[in-house]
Amino acid sequence: MEPPNIERLDERTVQRIAAGEVVERPASVVKELIENSLDAGASRVAVSVESGGTGGIRVRDDGVGIPADQLEAAVAEHATSKIADIEDLDRGVGTLGFRGEALYTVGAVSRLTVRSRPPDAEAGAEITVEGGDVGDPRPAGCPEGTTVEVDDLFYNTPARKKFLKRTTTEFDHVNTVVTGYALANPDVAVSLEHDGRETFSTEGNGDLRSAVLAVYGREVAEAMVDVEWTPDLGGDDDDNDGSDNDGSDNDEADPAVRRVTGLVSHPETTRSTREYLATYVNDRYVTASALREATLDAYGGQLAPDRYPFAVLFVEVPSGDVDVNVHPRKLEVRFDEELAVRAAVEEAVEEALLDHGLIRSTAPRG
Ligand code: ADP
Ligand code: MG
Repeated sequence: MEPPNIERLDERTVQRIAAGEVVERPASVVKELIENSLDAGASRVAVSVESGGTGGIRVRDDGVGIPADQLEAAVAEHATSKIADIEDLDRGVGTLGFRGEALYTVGAVSRLTVRSRPPDAEAGAEITVEGGDVGDPRPAGCPEGTTVEVDDLFYNTPARKKFLKRTTTEFDHVNTVVTGYALANPDVAVSLEHDGRETFSTEGNGDLRSAVLAVYGREVAEAMVDVEWTPDLGGDDDDNDGSDNDGSDNDEADPAVRRVTGLVSHPETTRSTREYLATYVNDRYVTASALREATLDAYGGQLAPDRYPFAVLFVEVPSGDVDVNVHPRKLEVRFDEELAVRAAVEEAVEEALLDHGLIRSTAPRG
């Protein structure tokens, strides 16, 4: 057999392969667009999808907007307003995005329109990208803020399109993502609409319980108790120098978990899937089996078999102990001190449930 020729892929092929790694399904597009809206300081984010997102996605916000002369940059590869260099990244990014690739990659595999008007601009403008072909920016009437529309997702990547599931499944994924961000940002009014019907809309009044009420309904909201946990440092150190571990493993000065807050449900208010266990690390919405398992363990066997409670839990850890510079599609995080994080979350949830008499005390802790 002859050795095959090695040839460089053309730009379009590279673009689509790369896009496939970030954009897996409509929910991944929704995630990127919501993150952009939140990064833009929006106080309202309205998400609307057709046919689970396969028939169209629109995210509208009232954030800072994109000036007309920046629209081309916004949809360009590796173009971002959020970091300037690697030092910025090392200092830690306060925004959800920073790679400058979401709009570019979405535009590679769909028909994308970004329409925007910064609050101080007299008029709005829009730009369209079709399968990677960037059109010229043009004036467009629009309210203050930004609206991004994504149509015909994967129209030019049939293999990817084939992997899409039924409309209801795709919508479930969209719903999980929008819910995740709505609960993480009770100060932002987040709404979701599917095929013209409102799924939920939060008030944006800053109150987590009211966001839970909007998203999950009254029965669930009333069954939730507050979690509020900080480590018992047992000393005088209050860790105010802000520096990370310098090699001296002083757990008292720099606890593995600084705070656990949120809401968890009564052990009888449950569902048959784990998807209502929403976890956040340093305000990022994450999937972390360690956090879910610790939460379930706290119920100490008082959940019916195959039933899972509702939880919205915010875990604060020193920023050096968790890698946020993860691949955009991977929500799973890893902790340097997983055992300590698990223990803290379990204790936090257990304390909350015990305080409200929702579980019986099992073995004394030691
Ligand atoms: P990133 O979020 O990593 O910077 P994106 O491709 O998602 O990359 O967005 C590129 C740039 O476009 C952002 O850095 C931001 O300046 C601008 N942008 C995108 N969406 C919005 C929005 N909803 N409001 C204001 N600016 C936006
Ligand atoms: Mg982004």
